[in-house]
Amino acid sequence: MRPEFLAAFERAATGKTLAFEDILALLPATAAERPLLYRLADQVRAQTMGETIYLRGIIEFSNYCSRNCLYCGLRRDNRELVRYRMTGPEIIAAARVAADRGIETIVLQSGEDGGYPAAELARTIKALKAELAVTVTLSAGDRSRADYVLWRQAGADRYLLKHETADARLFSRLRPGTGLAGRLTRLGWLQALGYQTGAGNIVGLPGQTLAMLARDILLLRRLKVTMAGIGPFIAHAATPLAGCPNGDPALTLNVLAVTRLVLPGAYLPATTALASIDPAGREQALQAGANVVMVNMTPPAYREHYFLYPGKAGSTLTPVENLEQILSLIHNLRGRKAGDQDGRANC
Ligand code: SAM
Ligand code: SF4
Repeated sequence: MRPEFLAAFERAATGKTLAFEDILALLPATAAERPLLYRLADQVRAQTMGETIYLRGIIEFSNYCSRNCLYCGLRRDNRELVRYRMTGPEIIAAARVAADRGIETIVLQSGEDGGYPAAELARTIKALKAELAVTVTLSAGDRSRADYVLWRQAGADRYLLKHETADARLFSRLRPGTGLAGRLTRLGWLQALGYQTGAGNIVGLPGQTLAMLARDILLLRRLKVTMAGIGPFIAHAATPLAGCPNGDPALTLNVLAVTRLVLPGAYLPATTALASIDPAGREQALQAGANVVMVNMTPPAYREHYFLYPGKAGSTLTPVENLEQILSLIHNLRGRKAGDQDGRANC
């Protein structure tokens, strides 16, 4: 094992605050070093967050997008994609399927769809809160402050706005017409409005370095996020990044594990992207610091069109099949249980 890894590991194991250099030493953990790193992240997760794996039902309610992110299949210029928008009643029906099975947090995700009226989404949020009493997380990208205010007043509890990369130049290159500063301003608005906020980053973006990944983790700490989504880049044939290598699943797990050491109390999903490029990815993530799983509850008629990247895990299953698969995976993880946000076992 590398001496610099062991020194940084020792600092993490004794509860010291990790500096940039420590993170940089831990991130490239080798095959020999990884078991040590993942075991420590798993222990920290158990001590701070317990054994519950929190299930979130995600409903991908619109795949229209006005942005042109170089990595994403929903990008505006992808003319191959069949576009859809779910109506309020369709969203509520999909959420009911989740709520009836004990999932108490619904994530409403979409492209940056300015054509989806903010007021219509607000009505749906109100109905979800009134009829199903669920926690509502939104993930609808960059919108105006007025929209965020409206949705918060309608009862939305959380907002997931991944910063994608903490490197301002890479950010602007991959998300044309936008900047990291604007993303961070929005995260500030969301926090000030009382949303529990989540950010997170993609691992393995073309042009990304380990130092950038270390800065991603430090940014998450500075933002004091409640949750952080960390998944690998997956190349999509209908995007300008077609043919670029996918993110490395082992490096993604390393980033996740180090994030757990730096943010002991965060909600960290075992991401769908990781499960999509590595069949064992979800299980491994849950044993390397993760404690959340997003269950895809998008109705079958729409889910194939929410085509962010190829091989998206669960995209051929019905919502209930998807949930059953995840529950069986959790069942096989010794000592862990599926539960809601209060830690009550619900499945
Ligand atoms: N449009 C909103 C936004 O960008 O914040 C939310 C929806 S977007 C589809 C959700 C997430 O998908 C993004 O935050 C990004 O990290 C991820 N994503 C998109 N394309 C990806 C790809 N090719 N590989 C890995 N993750 C990808
Ligand atoms: Fe649109 Fe989000 Fe995809 Fe960018 S990542 S193209 S904003 S859906």
